[in-house]
Amino acid sequence: MGADCLFCKIVNRELPADIVFEDDEMVAFNDINPQAPTHMLIIPKSHIATVNDLTESEVDLPGRLILRATALASEKGFADSGYRLIFNCNSEGGQTVFHIHLHLLGGRQLTALG
Ligand code: 5GP
Ligand code: ZN
Repeated sequence: MGADCLFCKIVNRELPADIVFEDDEMVAFNDINPQAPTHMLIIPKSHIATVNDLTESEVDLPGRLILRATALASEKGFADSGYRLIFNCNSEGGQTVFHIHLHLLGGRQLTALG
């Protein structure tokens, strides 16, 4: 676990979260400050600070996070109408929590990134 990492604490149930999915490898929960009707974060249980820190041996992990996001989008009913998946990286990328997380945003017409 990363020292004082917010998302490790959610994984370890040291902090509450509205968890919508969990398996051996990952947890998905609702964002505390949603930017769309559905705004979930899909995170690995293992602490990886940024996508820059992913290694060759972890190359399948982002794919599995994405597959889970697509399943959640289907469950929410907007897989066909559309949605957005985002990994922010470091400060200019808008990353504020340094434990990698895939944002799943959907349920309204999304506007341009920037
Ligand atoms: P980032 O800006 O790092 O890409 O995204 C971090 C996200 O985590 C933000 O959308 C923010 O609202 C969310 N977040 C921060 N703290 C908490 C928390 O304690 N609980 C939950 N559920 N989401 C959080
Ligand atoms: Zn962590």
